[in-house]
Amino acid sequence: MHRFRPMFVLALALACALIACANPLPQGPPHSAAQPPSEAAARTGAVADVAAELRRMPGGSVRTGTARTGTARNERSGPTATQPAQLVRGSVNRTSVNMSATYDAALDLDFGTRAVTVDTTISATNTSGAPVDRLELNTIAARLGDIRLGTVTVNGRTVTPTIHDQTVLVPLGGILPQGRTVAVRVAYRATLRNTLTNSDWLFTRTNGIVNLYRWIPWVSRDVPFGRDNHGDPFVTAVSPRVIVRITTDRPLVLATTGDRVSANGLTQTFEARNVRDFTVTAAPDFRTGSRIVGNTTVRVWYRPGFPATAAVEEAARAVGRMNALVGTYPYKTYKVVQSAGGYGMESPGLIWIPTGIASERISYLVHHETAHQWFYGIVGADQAYEPFTDEAAADFLARYTLQAKRASRCSTARLDLSIYRYSAGCYYETIYIQGGNFLDDLRTRMGSTAFWKGMRAWVTANRFRIATTRSLLDTLDAHTPLDLVPRYERRFPRLY
Ligand SMILES: [Zn+2]
Repeated sequence: MHRFRPMFVLALALACALIACANPLPQGPPHSAAQPPSEAAARTGAVADVAAELRRMPGGSVRTGTARTGTARNERSGPTATQPAQLVRGSVNRTSVNMSATYDAALDLDFGTRAVTVDTTISATNTSGAPVDRLELNTIAARLGDIRLGTVTVNGRTVTPTIHDQTVLVPLGGILPQGRTVAVRVAYRATLRNTLTNSDWLFTRTNGIVNLYRWIPWVSRDVPFGRDNHGDPFVTAVSPRVIVRITTDRPLVLATTGDRVSANGLTQTFEARNVRDFTVTAAPDFRTGSRIVGNTTVRVWYRPGFPATAAVEEAARAVGRMNALVGTYPYKTYKVVQSAGGYGMESPGLIWIPTGIASERISYLVHHETAHQWFYGIVGADQAYEPFTDEAAADFLARYTLQAKRASRCSTARLDLSIYRYSAGCYYETIYIQGGNFLDDLRTRMGSTAFWKGMRAWVTANRFRIATTRSLLDTLDAHTPLDLVPRYERRFPRLY
């Protein structure tokens, strides 16, 4: 994610509200400061029967992998003779983010009322090297969407999940050994926010656009959502395949992490491969445009008034430059999407550029979010506990390609802490700026050739995995005869 200046944004928003300014960004916070229009809080009424509604949804009964999930009606049917039971009696009190999981999700999106209904079947294979007995599924709907859980089943049997913070904890009802697969179905209803305040912009309908971030319950770890800054409190593994069917209450243009594979009336189906989240953006009046760079089509989704040409051109430029430095961008298309507002945000194959961005901020923000295609998308990180791994690397790559290096405005600090340990005022200045400058200093000492060779080696070795800060620093150290460890010790005392 990109930097945040909460006090400045708030002050500017208030100023705009007072003088009704149309274009309030003389030099910018990087993101929208325009106060969202006050939308009628059309909360949905009580849900009488979530299960009945879900049964009517497309994909209410789906096959995923070798396991079959029943509909709510026959959910108690067990595994058949050709589908051996994958669970073993007992408990181990263990979970892991290291699962190979496919997601088959149906999303009902009501643009008018902001109601969403989600029914996801996860086929998760335990690749963690040890048994597990529960899944910890991340969805920010649990924090921002007033979530109401519907049917939750494991191999067709109803289980009793609990919600903790932004995590749905699903007991498997037994042990899933290494290498075995389980089918978990989670249904829920939620309501989108209608503001951009705090983290609301991640799950909102504002400025005529729906932002849906981390709405699919995704195999993760139970990490806290709350933080003083706007760090990304997430850790998710790559899924080999995600299928999403989205049914809308009216014709909507959808920009998602996936590629659209079919459309039928108000239902559109998307598929993504090798992604660690699945973002949806929707508007009735999105327009599109595109550029080609190498084998990649860069496509922009925008509403009238958005600087679409600058955004798509900067994105194409960034992909071209970064391909040469850290390896070829892995997806067919790269989507640059005007979001409801808030802040720049990355997703595999897609970035959000917020409504209201000042034109002079486009270049930097697009480069920063594009750099996340490598440092987040291709090489994942524990974003909550090791933000250096993705944010320092991404911001360094962005500023290196733009020749926009600058000094930090906060005092020198360690770079190995979690997002929960940095203040709002110095998180960006420490992790992004000091972290990026630390990497640039290594580049200067090692020489550019050795440095970029090391970065490419690290990207290749960790492609579609979750990597640690230590592995990045060790890889760079291994690409130079210099001993970098004394430099590491000062800034990464947890690791060296
Ligand atoms: Zn970022």
